[in-house]
Amino acid sequence: MIQYARQDIAQSDIDAVIEALNSDFLTQGPIVPRFEQAVAERVSASHAIATNSGTSALHIACMAIGLGPGDSLWTVPNSFVASANCGILCGANIDFVDIEPINYCMDVNALAEKLSIAASESKLPKAIIPVHYSGRSAMMKEIRALVSQFDIFIVEDASHSTGGNYLGKPVGSCQYCDVSVFSFHPVKIMTTTEGGIALTNNSELAERMARIRTHGVTRNPAEMENSQPQPWEYEQIELGLNYRMSEIQAALGLSQLNRLDEFVSRRRQLAMQYDEQLRELPLILPRIHPESESTWHLYPVLVDSERTSLNREQVYFSLLEQDIKPNVHFIPIHTQPYFRKMGFNRGDFPVSEWFYSNELSLPMYFGLSDEQQLSVVRALEKTFRN
Ligand SMILES: *Cc1c(COP(=O)(O)O)cnc(C)c1O
Repeated sequence: MIQYARQDIAQSDIDAVIEALNSDFLTQGPIVPRFEQAVAERVSASHAIATNSGTSALHIACMAIGLGPGDSLWTVPNSFVASANCGILCGANIDFVDIEPINYCMDVNALAEKLSIAASESKLPKAIIPVHYSGRSAMMKEIRALVSQFDIFIVEDASHSTGGNYLGKPVGSCQYCDVSVFSFHPVKIMTTTEGGIALTNNSELAERMARIRTHGVTRNPAEMENSQPQPWEYEQIELGLNYRMSEIQAALGLSQLNRLDEFVSRRRQLAMQYDEQLRELPLILPRIHPESESTWHLYPVLVDSERTSLNREQVYFSLLEQDIKPNVHFIPIHTQPYFRKMGFNRGDFPVSEWFYSNELSLPMYFGLSDEQQLSVVRALEKTFRN
């Protein structure tokens, strides 16, 4: 069975993990800060806070900007539920901006319209979370320009985009946002098993995220009531959680980071090959805006109802019968039962719903061989021939 995604673990990754296991610290040692610095340098951001998941990185970002009850957070329906849950966990209200039908990320015109209505009703959001769907970048420059006249934070959900570029700069550099978040789940571009990281150029936000990641506790005398603390003393000055990454995870992360260029370039090559090999089939292939260099976390295709009578379900099950297991990204967040209980309905965000009903994510990962890729192409050809 060819899966849609999988990690790639080399001997060097295994060696790094074993070394960490044999070291003095399994958590709160020197490797996590090394990993944080390496990621920050790699993407030209000033600060990095590693966490035990991408979801927790989104959550500490929302907490650090002070998102709370009475505030609202806007994201897109075409994402994983974590992009919205991070706001709900802070007690904020959630709303969505639909995606744009070509690049599948936040629609800048829809955002402009929604902002102007919200401004006239004094209901502006405290933060927005654009999502870099499939590894391409959302239109961050335009989004930043729209939001800059208001007092609104931008947190980028760049879970799919580790190693991507936008307008010639690495995604994660935070040029157009306050905080940028990567996920290191095994299906993503590089992995720490579970894990994530929050990047920022704002030192206050960085300090606050680091504190919230570990119980809201500080040992920094400048932040403490007792400015001459004993060596064992710490003070909890706000509410936080234990969202720390372990030394073992960070060791794997450092090792995988050395392979990031290799990971992304193989994915780009596979994407170009799919583009070529699938050209004749009744599929809408991914179109990437020239400003953005995608990491190709996903290779999303749409079954084109104008050129085939088969629907997405039929294509999915036909591939499954041929030992290929694609996936579908994403079930629009607002259509989940939990969100419908909050008052959202099917039909609220038609572009995301149209996209979801036609989309298939074809197998795409570093270790996918040319031969395996060709068998995916042949299986699709057979599907549409019948
Ligand atoms: C994977 C993912 C997350 C969450 O990352 P975890 O590391 O699994 O917590 C958040 N947003 C998007 C868009 C994702 O794909």
